[in-house]
Parts: sequence; C-alpha cells; structure tokens
Amino acid sequence: MLPFKLIYSDEYYLPIGQHVFPAEKYRRVARHLIESGVADPSDFLTPQPASDQDILLVHTPAYVNKLKTGTLSAREEMQLEVPYSPELVRAFWLAAGGSILAAQNALKDGVAISIGGGFHHAFPDHGEGFCMIHDVAVAIRRLQRDNKIRTAMTVDCDVHQGNGTAAIFAGTRTVSDPLPSSAPPVAGQRPLMRGTHAGDVFTISLHQENNYPAWKPPSSIDVDLPDGITDDDYLAWLDNALSSGLRQFEPDLICYIAGADPYHEDQLGGLGLTMEGLKRRDELVFRVAKTRGIPVMVTYAGGYARRVEDTVTIHCNTVIAAKEVFGAKA
Ligand SMILES: [Zn+2]
Repeated sequence: MLPFKLIYSDEYYLPIGQHVFPAEKYRRVARHLIESGVADPSDFLTPQPASDQDILLVHTPAYVNKLKTGTLSAREEMQLEVPYSPELVRAFWLAAGGSILAAQNALKDGVAISIGGGFHHAFPDHGEGFCMIHDVAVAIRRLQRDNKIRTAMTVDCDVHQGNGTAAIFAGTRTVSDPLPSSAPPVAGQRPLMRGTHAGDVFTISLHQENNYPAWKPPSSIDVDLPDGITDDDYLAWLDNALSSGLRQFEPDLICYIAGADPYHEDQLGGLGLTMEGLKRRDELVFRVAKTRGIPVMVTYAGGYARRVEDTVTIHCNTVIAAKEVFGAKA
C-alpha cells in the first residue's frame, strides 16, 4: 500500500481516435502499476468531474458555453488539435475533477498523483495543443476558493512551455531583478533563464526553446533549454530554477507537471533525457518538496515516445519515485 493516493478513472481516456497523443496511456499506466506490484487497487481514488462552477474559476463563460453546446468555430477546433465531441468535453471536465482531488489529497498526505491531467496549453478563452481545459489551474483556483491554500507554485517539466499556465496566472507581475547567475554553463549554448515576480501563483517552466508554442508568454521563471540537452545539465537547471523560485516565493502547494516528452525518443520533443534522467528529475522535485514540507500534486501532461510502452514506463516511474522519496507504509 502506498503512503499516498493515485487518482484515476478509465474515463480519463480521450476519445480522439488515431492520434499522436496516446490516449490509452492512462489505462496502461494504471494497469501496469497494479500488475507490477507498485500499487494496490486500494491506493486508487476515482474522481468526479469538476462542476461548471469550478471550470468557470479559470475559463470564460463564452468559451465554456461553446464547449457545452458544441459551437466552437472550425478555427478554434483546429487550434485545439483534437476532434471536438461531447465525450471529449466530459473527459476534460473529469481531468479537472481529478486534479482537484489530487490537490486535496496532496494536502493530506504530502503528495498525490493524478494518472492524467496536466493540460497546460489551455487558456481561459480557448484551448490549444491537445488541451481543452486547464485542469491544474482549475484545481488551484478551487482550493484557493475553499481557503485550503493561499498560494501555489507550478513546476512544469513537460518539453513544451506551459503557455496556458503562464497566461492564466500572469496576474500582477512586474519585472524582477535578474536571477542569480549561478546557473550551470551548458556546452556551446547558454540557455536563458528568464524571470518575473508572481501574484498568488508562481509559475516555473523548463522547456525546449525551439518547440511549440512559438509564442511563450512569460512564466515567473522560464528556462529555455537548447535542443538535445542531456540528463545532468537538465537536472542542474531544474535544481537551479527550484531553488531560485523557492527563494522568491513560499507556496502552500506545488503542482508538478511531469511531462514524459523531454525523453530523447519523443516524437514531439527535441531534448535528450534518458528514462533514468526523467526518474531523477521526478525524485528531485519530490525531495525538494518533502524537505521543505510543501505538499505536491502531480499530473502527467505529454508523452509521445515512438514506443508507447516507453511513455508508460516513464509515467510509472513517477509513481515509483514518489514511493521512494515519500516512503512506503510499513
Ligand atoms: Zn508536451
């Protein structure tokens, strides 16, 4: 039995047909965790869909109305890059409910993982890049509304920049002093770590600079990584961004977006991380959160490895890393 909860439903499946996004990955991860003995069926909690009221904490009434009535324009559906259906809307409402449940359980147990979610390209008034609803933002705003947290920090390690997250939480930011120049040098090219102060939510994104989205609205800290960066350099940048962020800001909750797509075999990514490096990345985030006593909720975001089983392994390793850091119950 795990000392924390996994949030999962078979209904997380996104009905998008043949697609580069492997929508079956959620079911495969959940099944593999049980079959391999990492988790027990009793470790799982089944989420309920978020309410419309929860979704409206982040998204505009006009956009929510279009989704519920199937009246997105052709251009809006193209930007979403997944085919619209009422079933897909339900899956995204459920992903948001799963992230709310994960955040609530993280406050209880120190960590909780939703075997789904992480739709960080959704904006208040539109969806893009396979993301219809920003489940993590909905969870943060819901817990704030319930007075469970005042502040939160997003730590986005998907290979793609968290543009929706940055836009949603842009708030009252002003340009800050330059970040400390203790960042590790990277051979040949020096990635630029950019930063601004946050309002009540501090956003960190480590991503490949030469990748979608073309327009990257500023996060509180953006680390624009060069193509092909490998494990040790990536981990040094992550360590640096976390320390810098936590020097500037004290979050009541960390929302870790554990994308599997920085993997060197990813079809939509251009970074050079190994599976082992990705697991060390997860361990680093968990260790920092545990050491500082900050609860951490996890979502999965992207993962487009040539072999779907690699994406499944990377996502399963996130649970194993949490188990190792937070300790199995005796
Ligand atoms: Zn991604």
